[in-house]
Amino acid sequence: MQTQTATERKRTEGKQRRTRLRTLHDFTLRELEAWAEEQGYPRYRARQLFHWAYQQLTLDYDAMTVLPKAMRTELAGTLPISGLTEVRRRITDDGETVKFLFRTTDDHFVETVLMFYPDRTTVCVSCQIGCAVGCSFCATGLGGLIRNLDAGEIVSQVVYAARLARERGRRLSNIVVMGMGEPFQNYDQVMRFVAIVNDRQGLGIGARHITLSTAGMVPFIDRLAEEPYQVKLAVSLHAPNDALRSQLVPLNRRWPIAELLEACRRYVAKTGRRVTFEYVLIEGINDDERTAAELARRLRGLLCHVNLIPYNPTPAAPLFRRPGPERIERFRAVLEHYGIPATVRYSRGVEIAAACGQLRAQEEARRGRSRIGFVRGASEE
Ligand code: SAH
Ligand code: SF4
Repeated sequence: MQTQTATERKRTEGKQRRTRLRTLHDFTLRELEAWAEEQGYPRYRARQLFHWAYQQLTLDYDAMTVLPKAMRTELAGTLPISGLTEVRRRITDDGETVKFLFRTTDDHFVETVLMFYPDRTTVCVSCQIGCAVGCSFCATGLGGLIRNLDAGEIVSQVVYAARLARERGRRLSNIVVMGMGEPFQNYDQVMRFVAIVNDRQGLGIGARHITLSTAGMVPFIDRLAEEPYQVKLAVSLHAPNDALRSQLVPLNRRWPIAELLEACRRYVAKTGRRVTFEYVLIEGINDDERTAAELARRLRGLLCHVNLIPYNPTPAAPLFRRPGPERIERFRAVLEHYGIPATVRYSRGVEIAAACGQLRAQEEARRGRSRIGFVRGASEE
């Protein structure tokens, strides 16, 4: 008899998870129509479901009064709307930033941040539980990757955020995939997520209002350039040379800066859209004027914008510090001097641990599941 090892079994189960549409939030409208017919419901019921899920932002079938009672009961038993349950909500910046912590059906935690600005309302969603990339300054990376999120689990984060925005009389306008995880290591589910939230029959978030942020997985930058969706690309650069970048972002060893910037140039040539570079400023590591000048030289001639993110201290890397405001401003000024547009972006919600992966780490620790021990210092890289 053939027996599977535990690892093989896990892999098979993982594959099965991926191919099954598990919740209402996992379906595109077209798939939902096919599914409804298969289940013996009239096709138009799918549109009604989609409408209630995304225009009414309903998380409970009972509230979908347009559907017959029997159908609501049946659906509640066969197709959950969302795979996420909200377990915690923290509010800061005078209510301008809200951090959600969700639990998945397999008992993991997912973070989402909703940010209110005068001219827009942005949600920052996670696409994985943990992350395999392991950047030395990032709380998410320290525990490794637990699993990819399904498209529906990413969609659900947006729905929860949109509901809260609506309570405040605001409409969710922008999505950034900059929470936990590397979107290009979960490419198919992330693109499925884009298709669902972009649908005008549903949330109708324009592709240009959706940003995917990558640590620099070159082949997927080329792949994204071929997609019909005009989503925005952000690349986490953090350093202008390989010696430094490989210390901060381990996958730089596989796709060094020259290759990464070449891919970005191809992307701009193909799409006509500019690339945003994210650059986390860490005191004494990558924040001096010479490094700024080196960065400017490397980016010359590339249609781009640099977002300078002052490092958000995390117990994950206790030796790293945020530079003072003068140093940050000097770095920005050097880039500007060389003609590279740059903006300083203080990440929202610092005091509610809104940096990547921190709230989840706290929750895991609180429950005594310290998979994500805060032990690895920056010096070990
Ligand atoms: N994995 C993707 C997207 C998620 S991380 C990526 O790396 O681009 C989103 C951004 O938050 C990245 O630019 C990342 O470098 C940054 N980040 C992670 N930890 C941070 C911290 N402690 N302080 C400031 N920025 C951080
Ligand atoms: Fe992963 Fe991004 Fe964190 Fe790096 S910064 S470990 S790629 S989530």
